[in-house]
Amino acid sequence: MTLSPSSALPKIDRRDFHRTSCRALAALATSGTGWTRRSRVAAQGTSIAPPVPYVDMHVHLGQPWNERGPLTAEMLLRWMDAHHIGRAVVLPLISPESWFYPITPQWVLEQTKPYQDRLIPFCAVDPRSVNLGGYRGFLDILRRYVEAGARGMGEHKWGGPVDHPANIELIRACAELQLPVLFHMDNIRNTDAPGLPGLERLLTEVPEAVLIGHAPGWWASISGDTTQDDMGGYPRRSVTQGGAIDRLMEKFPNLYGEISAGSGANALQRDREFAQEFLRRRADRLLFGTDYLADGQEVPQFELLASFDLPREVWSQIAAGNAEKLLNHPR
Ligand SMILES: [Zn+2]
Repeated sequence: MTLSPSSALPKIDRRDFHRTSCRALAALATSGTGWTRRSRVAAQGTSIAPPVPYVDMHVHLGQPWNERGPLTAEMLLRWMDAHHIGRAVVLPLISPESWFYPITPQWVLEQTKPYQDRLIPFCAVDPRSVNLGGYRGFLDILRRYVEAGARGMGEHKWGGPVDHPANIELIRACAELQLPVLFHMDNIRNTDAPGLPGLERLLTEVPEAVLIGHAPGWWASISGDTTQDDMGGYPRRSVTQGGAIDRLMEKFPNLYGEISAGSGANALQRDREFAQEFLRRRADRLLFGTDYLADGQEVPQFELLASFDLPREVWSQIAAGNAEKLLNHPR
């Protein structure tokens, strides 16, 4: 979740996008894959249809707050219908660093219950919950959420180091219950240094944990020259080889990345040549996501993903296949 979603989003150069997407569409129309411009452009809504309906790994529901209006389950479903999203993961936010007010797992579970076929609730636990008493306590509360319908943990957005001992215990409990963890990383939440040594320590301690990276600290690390400042922002320069994301994905098969928000869009937009290869190379680890959190919010991911020249199989994996695999995991 981003505090000012629209203002923080990097702007896609419209001319650039149209040139690229028209070329991509023309290429697809003549490539013999059976995809035509007509079949890929939605009759309803404004997005280009993916080969399979999206699974959005990152959305929120919201209650009215000052000038912000509500985002109800029904509003979310209408937006999903207009954008070819079959199912969406709804993320609570409970850490004080995460949102204006707590969006509790209980509320998310309750709001999504009537729409279980399309809205998938996650839960959230803050590692500082000392009364839980560490690993055993984390297991206990996570089990209660799982019994109530939670399919993963996140948005995990607590204000401490990603490799803090309490965080390692919480992630260990999630791994025990086979709950994927979607974490937000920047210079305030799940903090780390350039090169992601903390995340590497966490993964080394709990290699069976399924971790899904999100936000500026994670996505800035696509590049080999990442600075600490980059990890709290939106670097625009070209990507250099040797980024921590590739290195850690190579080493840890349970590490994923989801492309939501300004940070995900920026990582793919800042160096399109690198991104084109990255999307193919990491097709089995990337997850579509939007971070939709407010009615009418602009979401760059639809146009952006469609603007790359991706084999149908790759696009399907990123749009839905990888998410289905994680969410349908028996537990
Ligand atoms: Zn979010």
